[in-house]
Formats: sequence, C-alpha cells, structure tokens
Amino acid sequence: MDEPVRLLVAERQRGEQRIETQRVAENDLDFSPQCGNSRQLVDSSFGLELELAEALRLRTLRMDFQPQFDLGSGRGCGVEALARWVRSTGEVIAPSIFIRIAERADMIHALGAWALHSACATASAWCSGAAQPTTLSVNVSALQIDEKFFGVIERTLKQTGFPAKQLELEVTESALIANLALSIEHLNAWKQLGVRIAMDDFGTGHSSLSSLSRLPVDRLKLDRSLVHRMTLDRKGAAIMRLVVSLGAELDMGVIAEGVETEEQLQMLTDLGCPQAQGYLLGRPMTAELAQVALGKTWGNRAIPLRGRVGCAVRESQHIDRSAASSKRSTMSSYEAAHATTGRRRPILSP
Ligand code: C2E
Ligand code: CA
Ligand code: CA
Repeated sequence: MDEPVRLLVAERQRGEQRIETQRVAENDLDFSPQCGNSRQLVDSSFGLELELAEALRLRTLRMDFQPQFDLGSGRGCGVEALARWVRSTGEVIAPSIFIRIAERADMIHALGAWALHSACATASAWCSGAAQPTTLSVNVSALQIDEKFFGVIERTLKQTGFPAKQLELEVTESALIANLALSIEHLNAWKQLGVRIAMDDFGTGHSSLSSLSRLPVDRLKLDRSLVHRMTLDRKGAAIMRLVVSLGAELDMGVIAEGVETEEQLQMLTDLGCPQAQGYLLGRPMTAELAQVALGKTWGNRAIPLRGRVGCAVRESQHIDRSAASSKRSTMSSYEAAHATTGRRRPILSP
C-alpha cells in the first residue's frame, strides 16, 4: 500500500475522527455557492481521501476531453483532457475538489502520472485516424513542477507513442510565478523532450511582463474571467485586446477559455484571438465524441451561424450511434453522470 494511503488507514483505525476537522481547513476547499453542501464535504473529506486512493488504484477515474477551435478556419485544433471522478455511490466529485484532496494527501503525483498516461494513450489512438488533435492539453498541478515529472513525461511518451510535439502541459499562471526561477528550470527541462507549455488561467495571477518574457511558455490560456469581462465594458475589451496582442508580440499562441456566448465568440474573432474553447463550442465529452467533434468544422466561416454553433458536437452524436442512444449523449459525460439519478448531485458544478 502507498505510504500516504497506509498512514490514512492507520489514522482512521486509531479512531482519530477529530483528524477530519483538523486536516481540512475550511478555506482549503471550495465553498462557492454552487457547492451547497460544504459542511458535508468537510465531514466526508477524510473518507474521500481513502476513496480517491482506491479509485486511483483501481483506475476508476476517467478522462473527458473538451475540444478547442481555431477561430480563423472554424476547425477543431485540439483537446483539453479533464479528469473525472464518479464515486461508487454515483456521486460526482468536481475536479476542483478532488485535485485539491490529492494535493493535500500527497497523491497528486500518482494522479498526475495517471492523467498524463490516460490522456496520451487515448489521444495516440486518434493519431492514426483522420481526426487528429493537433494539440493534446493536459493539466499539471503546481506540486508536479519538479525534476521527477521529467521522467514521468519521458516514460509516458515512450509507453503511449504519443508525439511529444502534440503534447501541451498546462500549468497555471500562479503556480509558475510562485517560484519563477525553479519553474523556468523545470519547464526548460520538460521542453527538451519536445512538449509545449501553456500558461493556464492567464489573467488571474500576478505575472509581470518581465517574468512572462522569461518563462518558456508557448501558449497563453486566457482565463474565462477575462472573456466574461470583455463584453461588459470598454475596459474589459481593452484588456482582452492587449493580452491578445501581447501573446502575438511574444510569439506565443493564445487561446481564450470559457467562451459561452456568441457575442464573446464574435468579439474574440474581431480582436484577432486565434483560438477558443468553451461551452458554446463544445463541452467536455467522452473520448469517442471528442474524436468525432475534432473532425468537424463550422464550415468555411470564421463565425458559425446561429444554430450551427457547437454543431460539431451535435453532429458527432448522431454519427456515434452507440454512444448516442439517449438524451444523455447531448450532454457532457460529466453532466450525464450528474443527471442519471435524482439523488446524484455534483458537489461542485463544473
Ligand atoms: P481548468 O484547467 O481551468 O479547466 C477548465 C474548466 O472550465 C473545466 O472545469 C471545464 O469543464 C470548465 N469549462 C470549460 N468551458 C467552460 C465554459 O464555457 N464555461 C464555464 N463556466 N466553464 C467551462 P472542470 O473540468 O470542472 O475542471 C476544473 C479544474 O480542475 C481545471 O480547471 C483544472 O484546474 C483541474 N483539473 C481537471 N482535470 C485535471 C487533471 O487531470 N490534473 C490536474 N492537475 N488538474 C485538473
Ligand atoms: Ca486547464
Ligand atoms: Ca483554465
């Protein structure tokens, strides 16, 4: 048994129930309004650690994939792998919760290695087909930014045969800035393997222009708060225009995340933002659906016609009859898991 898991079991056996409240500082977890049952989460988080360890051991976590689109051509240009955990009770635990549980319980390295392997193994099966993702983006926790992760990447690429140049590792802006010198060192080492780096949640941290120019980052992922603010007032639009041109000036790719409305999509296109991702264009979905979605375009238009938005996803669901047997297939598999029983409630909505 892994050391952290063994310790957790031992603690529980000693009947130290108080450890639950000690270990879980309330501000450690996400108590956003959607959560609704934060008390329940605190009370059960110790048990969740054990369950998560078991889910990792039994490989019952899975990956969904959210498509990314090129705004010029309307073509699918990649996917982001997003981890999913549905407990044996059917309850869905949001990744923002279980990733933090894994980080706190020292399971993030095992979870991170699984996530990378699972995403690369799935996407390498696509590479032989027509609908290749040009980019496979995998999230990397701040705690994984160390020398050990180099070996994990190297091994995974070797074992799965996934082309390094198509793999992008997403690290949040705040994680990179927290320890700039070390981040630069590790990122440079990872890049020697041929992978690319994206700065996730860009616009939420405190990166200075000088740190941005020093980090070996290939793509900026503009946080959805910037996308949201962009259409609210002139200042929001000005900030978006600036960050899009900043990316271009620094020779970095730029992708806007959290695109939910046609107005946002239109504006991003007008501002010259090259790529976008968001519920409007396609929710996180199963690997099978994502593969088909990637092979679709919005047509030859830069902006999809009203009603055709997200058609890649809907069409894919008609094609994939095995997966599209019911209304469930029009949702992400994550949502479907929420919806299938009345009592299943997400602890936190995506
Ligand atoms: P993230 O990396 O910023 O991922 C984007 C999140 O926004 C995902 O939530 C996605 O489902 C959601 N999203 C996508 N489009 C939209 C949209 O248009 N509107 C809104 N409101 N949300 C949108 P999800 O899947 O719940 O993941 C939450 C976070 O959990 C991720 O944020 C990432 O930080 C973390 N995460 C997920 N999978 C992994 C993983 O394998 N490893 C690590 N280290 N972290 C992961
Ligand atoms: Ca991400
Ligand atoms: Ca993000």
